[in-house]
Formats: sequence, C-alpha cells, structure tokens
Amino acid sequence: MITRFAPSPTGPLHLGHAWSAMIAHDMARAEGGSFLLRIEDIDRQRARPEWEAQLKDDLNWLGIVWDAEPMRQSDRMDAYGAALDDLWSRFLLYPCTCSRRDIAEALSAPQEGVEPTLGPDGPVYPGTCRADAPTGYPWPPRPEDVHLRIDMNVAQMACEHMILQDQADHWGLSFLETGPLHPGTVATSRDSYLRDIGDVVLARREFGTSYHLSVVVDDAAQGVTHVVRGGDLFEATPIHVLLQRLLGLPTPVYHHHDLVRDGAGKRLAKRDDARSIASYRDAGWSAEALLAHLRESRVAP
Ligand code: GLU
Ligand code: ZN
Repeated sequence: MITRFAPSPTGPLHLGHAWSAMIAHDMARAEGGSFLLRIEDIDRQRARPEWEAQLKDDLNWLGIVWDAEPMRQSDRMDAYGAALDDLWSRFLLYPCTCSRRDIAEALSAPQEGVEPTLGPDGPVYPGTCRADAPTGYPWPPRPEDVHLRIDMNVAQMACEHMILQDQADHWGLSFLETGPLHPGTVATSRDSYLRDIGDVVLARREFGTSYHLSVVVDDAAQGVTHVVRGGDLFEATPIHVLLQRLLGLPTPVYHHHDLVRDGAGKRLAKRDDARSIASYRDAGWSAEALLAHLRESRVAP
C-alpha cells in the first residue's frame, strides 16, 4: 500500500490537513506500506517556499513522517507536457479563450429556464470554443498560450473504444471507494460525464497544467495505490478515472474522508489562519491531544 498527502503550499496547514495527512499516514503504517508527500505547487503565484517549509514543520510536529523525498509538482512540467501532448495528438483537447465572465454570460443567456449545472470546477462549460477547435490535417502543435479543455464527448467515445479493445479488463469507468461517504464500487455514466462535468480545463494558460491532470500523472508516478483526501474531491474523481483510462495509467483505490468543520458546521478553509496547526501548537496543545480530538469529533476545538 502506498498513500500520500498532497498539500498546496499556499497557506498554513489547518486541522483539515492534519486529519487528511493522519488518515493517509496511519492507513499506510497499518499495512506496512509507505506514506509519501507531494507538494502541489502548480500555482506559482500563490505557492511559497516558506509555506512548504512550514507545512513540513507542522507535519513533523504532528509525528507524520514521509518515506521518500517529496515530489514537487513544479519539477514535473515535462511529465505534464507529455501527457497533454498525448491527449492533444488524439484530438481530445481543444483551445479555449473564454474568461470566467464570458462563461457566466454564455450561461446566463436565456436557456428556457434551465439552471446551469454546477460541476466539480464550477459551472459546466457551455462549449463556446469547441466549434473553433482546429480541424483536419496537419494537426497543429499543442498551443501553450490558451486554456486547453477536454472534449468530453470525444473522450467518452475514445474510452468506450479502449474498453472494448481491452478484452482482459471489463472494469470500465468505475472506481473502488473505501471512504465513509460512498463506500463500494462507484460506477460512472457517460451521461453524467457530459451533464455534470463537461469540458473541464486540463491545462490552464497560466499554469501550463491543471490540478486534474497533474494529480493523475503524479499519483501514477509515485505508485500511489490508495488516494486519501477530503470528501470535497469525490465529485472530481470521475475526471481522474477517465484520465487514467485515456493515459493508460492504473486507477488507485479512493478513500474520501469527512471534513473537519468549525463550531458553526462550516468546513475549514485554508485562509482560516486562526485555526492553523501552528496556532494550536502556540496555544500549548500537544500533537497527541490534537489528533485525539480529531479522531473523536471532526469539529475544530
Ligand atoms: N492539493 C490538493 C489540496 O490541497 C489535494 C489534492 C488531492 O489530494 O488530490 O486540496
Ligand atoms: Zn472558451
């Protein structure tokens, strides 16, 4: 078993992170497996080396020890570029120049009273730029100065084709979930990919990649067998399973855990400085007491 904790060094670690790291760590230890750390710093504007140093410090204080040199996403741009080239060359991506505002406007245009669907990355993209995708031969090189979206309809067809060809494996697009929220085999459907997810961005212009693409490429590169993370990412998991299939990567087992909340029942946000691990440490909490509190109740003390 290989598990991982994959924080973004864009602010202090809070209790929600401690909870996530602890579950991943303890799960690996219980099986004699490995626990890995990955620094998710594709957002170069917001990621800071100070936050990375601080989060390692906080993990050490919590007694959470990782077993190999941490992987850092900013070192992995070549791997993401190769995956994007692969998808691009198979006509699975198209360039998008829409701003958030363009999308909001396209969605608010009268649509016979249809409310826009909220997908894992916000409102499901209305497909504005799909019609402008390059066509025909020769296929141009992958552009790097625009967002690249997956053409979900084409991706579904590509997947179905691959599943048909792959005689030994009729697993299809589903995944095994061991978390408390949706335990069991989670099946996906073509309809739900089109309706609830749509053409999500796989390369953001400013990052040259995206959370979805990087997480899939890196979980495979680190040999992660069990992905432990917050339940807020459950809805994004079908995107990851689809990308694994398209890129020929294994699908790990997923364990989405419940989220730590504040006294008012609101989930902790990263910018919630008051509840940083460091603030509990400064207030005299021991790591044991803090982790014991989290095991007992998912409410921040
Ligand atoms: N880097 C993500 C976060 O900070 C976690 C991604 C994941 O575990 O898949 O929320
Ligand atoms: Zn667009």
